[in-house]
Amino acid sequence: MTEYRSIGPAEKQLRSLWDQAKHRVYHPKNWLKLQQLWRRFDLSFILYKDIKIMVPAGKVPDCETCLEICCTGPNSIVSLRLRDIAALIDAGLHQHMTHEKSRLTILGNTMNDSQKNFSESVFAKIFPVLTQDRTQTCTLLDENRMCGAYPHWPISCARYPFAIDAVNKVVFYAKGCGSFDLLPPYEVAERTRYLVQAAIGSYNERIKDIFLIYFAKKDLEKIGLTTYLDLSKID
Ligand code: SF4
Ligand code: SF4
Repeated sequence: MTEYRSIGPAEKQLRSLWDQAKHRVYHPKNWLKLQQLWRRFDLSFILYKDIKIMVPAGKVPDCETCLEICCTGPNSIVSLRLRDIAALIDAGLHQHMTHEKSRLTILGNTMNDSQKNFSESVFAKIFPVLTQDRTQTCTLLDENRMCGAYPHWPISCARYPFAIDAVNKVVFYAKGCGSFDLLPPYEVAERTRYLVQAAIGSYNERIKDIFLIYFAKKDLEKIGLTTYLDLSKID
């Protein structure tokens, strides 16, 4: 399955900003700032060729028959990247973004390692998440249990349940998804490639976001994306 979607004006501007800003990041005059960021974050982009795929051949999510849909429940917080914010704005869905992360506070000491890491990260502090209703369900999930944002959904939704272990450079199938299908051999390559690329893309977008926030804040302001960020938390 290949996902085709039109790219709107906010996302086009963001892409064009990245094309300019990546040269700024590596300019000698920014060397010190870049070194300081490297001390805080691993800023290496991951390439497809460097990844080992640990997902059994043909294993893909079977969302249509799934009883434990991952858009609801305690582990369903969706943190948004700049690319997601732009795509949601372009799709007229900006009202589904919030900085209200009270659920993390509610989880308190019961948070698992991944929730704890997220709650302490720069992403939790600065970036919005998708809104949820009182049942902890994403407000973009429609009455037919379909994604109301598709194909403009966040990249972390597009890649799920494929996940990346950046330290070991491995793509694996997330334990949280218990409903899966095995594709016939002629469909395996395209679908697996799409999900692996989405998992890698999701990771690389985080790095781009760090660069853009620390090196192109004013430009992000000009294209209206900082309205959705809490830059008072930047340090
Ligand atoms: S990704 Fe997995 S857990 Fe989520 S709806 Fe699809 S099958 Fe269910
Ligand atoms: S954006 Fe779509 S896929 Fe992602 S959590 Fe919401 S309903 Fe689910």
